[in-house]
Amino acid sequence: MTAPVQLTDVRKVYGAGPGAVTALGGVSHTFAEGTFTAVMGPSGSGKSTLLHCAAGLDEPSSGEVHLAGTPLRGLDETALTELRREHVAFVFQAFNLMPALTVRQNIVLPLTLAGRAPDETWVADVIQRVGLTERVGHRPSELSGGQQQRVAIARALAGSAAVLFADEPTGALDSQTATEVLALLRDQSRAAGQTIVMVTHDPVAASYADNLLFLVDGRIVSTSPARTPESIATELTDLARLTTTGRPR
Ligand code: ADP
Repeated sequence: MTAPVQLTDVRKVYGAGPGAVTALGGVSHTFAEGTFTAVMGPSGSGKSTLLHCAAGLDEPSSGEVHLAGTPLRGLDETALTELRREHVAFVFQAFNLMPALTVRQNIVLPLTLAGRAPDETWVADVIQRVGLTERVGHRPSELSGGQQQRVAIARALAGSAAVLFADEPTGALDSQTATEVLALLRDQSRAAGQTIVMVTHDPVAASYADNLLFLVDGRIVSTSPARTPESIATELTDLARLTTTGRPR
């Protein structure tokens, strides 16, 4: 069985000459089906670059990314867009909601764009799970930040994409809402077999994942199963001492 996301010796260098920055220095990792992985590391360690390369939003300088079994190298923008629409969902810290659309329209938008008919029962279930049933007809501007992020989460879940990439998904949320969102993501990987790759600097958020991957200076320095927030925080502090490029947050 092919893994939903596989990186093989992925390097990413920004710029050229003496000012070149190696954001990823040869990363190999397989994100297995139904796993929820937190990608952690000091600021500047390459977390966002890893996520962008894994999702086909950015092209590695060398190495190979397989997404849903398809090698990304050589795909043009149209083919990449189609592949993402078919298999991938995103949750970013900025919610990226369409202001003119209602909550419900935002949630089903990726399906509409992909020419797929929404499964009404599943969409209603997702909306209920994120607690937005009373808000389906509202516009994003009428919602709080936490509610807007729940719309973004529901949008990511509605299409049942094989892979969900999340970049600091709880960064803008209060702790109560963050807890709900993280529990939802964990349930989604366990119950629906969705593969979730979440970049976060928050040890509490990372403690919801069942795998941890630590980056320092563009390289994987350790991987481990689920841990407590305290143990994750200790490792992060230790790793921050190793980094040559990381800045304190
Ligand atoms: P993180 O998400 O862990 O903070 P990033 O992946 O954003 O790290 O960045 C890794 C390194 O690559 C950093 O040194 C950063 O300054 C650099 N970098 C990221 N994006 C660019 C870019 N578009 N151009 C030049 N350098 C970049």
